[in-house]
Amino acid sequence: MSEPFPWELGVHDAHCHPTDTMASVSDIPHMKTTTLTIMATRGDDQDLVQQTAESYSAQSKADCTDRKDRIVPCFGWHPWFSHQISNTAPSDLQTKKDHYDNVLAPSPVEDQAFIDLLPDPKPLSELLSETRARLQKFPTALVGEIGLDRSFRIPGPWTEEELEKRNDQVTPGSREGRRLSHYRVKPEHQRAVLKAQLQLAGEMNRAVSLHSVQAHGALVDVLKEVWAGHERVVLSRRKRDKQRDAECADFEDEEDATTTPNPFPPRICMHSYSGSVDPIRQLMHKSNPSDVYFSFSSLINFNGAPARKIADVVKALPEDRILIESDLHKAGEELDALMEDVARRICELRGWELRHGVQLLADNWRRFVYG
Ligand SMILES: [Zn+2]
Repeated sequence: MSEPFPWELGVHDAHCHPTDTMASVSDIPHMKTTTLTIMATRGDDQDLVQQTAESYSAQSKADCTDRKDRIVPCFGWHPWFSHQISNTAPSDLQTKKDHYDNVLAPSPVEDQAFIDLLPDPKPLSELLSETRARLQKFPTALVGEIGLDRSFRIPGPWTEEELEKRNDQVTPGSREGRRLSHYRVKPEHQRAVLKAQLQLAGEMNRAVSLHSVQAHGALVDVLKEVWAGHERVVLSRRKRDKQRDAECADFEDEEDATTTPNPFPPRICMHSYSGSVDPIRQLMHKSNPSDVYFSFSSLINFNGAPARKIADVVKALPEDRILIESDLHKAGEELDALMEDVARRICELRGWELRHGVQLLADNWRRFVYG
């Protein structure tokens, strides 16, 4: 018999998508998982995340200690939908065809039927002002899900067979089992959409949840761009001691630095982190001005992925930077079961006693979200 799971310590899902199945959202008050950090990804789900947050989330940091803390809403545009965003100046009026010709590879200009499937592009400036307004409305909201993905392709048109099998409970706009086309979103376009949202998160002083698939090198490059000029000074021990002596003199400068918004998020969660140990060294470098956390899910990290690789990654991390998540598309018992499973696995890999580990993971989540 395994030790009973200590739900009473608080279990927080750092990344999930219950608004993909709106019928499941009414299960949230009955769940064992304490908090769901709910991602928005595309045009279809921004309002749904907002509505869900209006029903169940805390409105201020002071509320977060009690059971009203069921939801932390996150607003952002996922790389799988980044082609729907246009990043040209308003004066540079573009046709829909020109836009998709610019952002997709190979060029779809000869494939009018495919272009007809795609929505009219949304200006990046509009996305940013809408997201800013949502973040202002929810003082504890984060930015997500955003990121880079080198492996995905855009779904093709629905076939009759796919339409027959379509589940009408699922919020539209995602792949929903459709065959993929051969069109990809160009990496430079994904980077531009990501960078603008990282800068917005900095402006609003909010943490972000990042998706990165086969793109860890490119992701580090974008982070270095937004961090440029703001790197933390890494001092030798001797210099650190000297600086401590001069601390009082520096106090005013530090005060200034905290009141000016930064162009980068204060904290970053690498969601369902699938990279190796190497990028962790870059992401955890002492000079990085954002604190980077790494989150793991049973669905992505413990579901056929090489066991040795995930074990190496989990063991390489500092204990205060590990998060857990479900990444599930619905709320309810299945999500609770995934959270218990991933928490037990992480504790086992780290050699943590269960109650100690669950408490550490809860503390990490709170520090990641609220600073
Ligand atoms: Zn996700």
